[in-house]
Amino acid sequence: MNMPETSTSLFNRLRFVLVETSRPGNIGAVARAMKTMGFSDLVVVNPRFPDALMQDEAIAFASGAQDILASARIAGSIDEALDGCNFAAALSARLREFSPPVVAPRTLAGQLAADPGLRPALVFGNERFGLPNEIVEKCNVLINIPANPEYSSLNLAQAVQVLAYECRVACAGDAAAPGGIGFQGELAGLAQIDGMYGHLEQALVAIEFLDANNPKKLMPRIKRLFSRTQLEIEEVNILRGIAKQILQKIKR
Ligand code: SAH
Repeated sequence: MNMPETSTSLFNRLRFVLVETSRPGNIGAVARAMKTMGFSDLVVVNPRFPDALMQDEAIAFASGAQDILASARIAGSIDEALDGCNFAAALSARLREFSPPVVAPRTLAGQLAADPGLRPALVFGNERFGLPNEIVEKCNVLINIPANPEYSSLNLAQAVQVLAYECRVACAGDAAAPGGIGFQGELAGLAQIDGMYGHLEQALVAIEFLDANNPKKLMPRIKRLFSRTQLEIEEVNILRGIAKQILQKIKR
């Protein structure tokens, strides 16, 4: 997949900041969530274990994203983590009485992708306590992932995944959803499809499903059905094979 990765691309501008993360496994899972979406700048503010980035649990959860973990940095404060950034978004499962404006993840992703002058950070809280108000108030916007109101607290790495995904889609548009997932054969040409319709029609007449003197709209309907499917050569051949077999059986 071709993804524009210039220095102004969001992939090179966006930082993920985790605040006081307790479980090293979650940090590893965050690294993985980021890498799967093409992001790499990870900073952790005062994790519970100072060596969290090197713990076995983090490495195991990072799986193929150990490079993100290895290049992640530990910061002693949120200010240090946001060094070089000119925009910060706080992620919170809870809406608060006093907070910066609340923006939906997709809207935020669109804004971040569209403005190459922004050096943004997404700031995520601790697994149990979320983000302290002092940090939320430092941020430009509050992002809430719309979730089940009765249970809206996502796992930390899953919240990261949602934001990373939205940011990727915002950058790549339709390129993020390649149409070619799974097998795709060569599309049939119009003449091949026409030939198949002729063959099918003969077979339907032969079994008296179609009355040649009173055809009604059967063939136009069948054509309309197939025209929605992007027939491939092999599929056209299968349909012709069915028609051929019908005609042979009828002859006997
Ligand atoms: N109990 C905490 C939730 C911690 S989940 C609380 O009430 O805030 C860990 C982190 O994941 C949160 O601090 C937040 O950054 C992120 N997160 C989880 N669910 C979220 C949601 N629905 N919207 C935005 N961020 C969310």
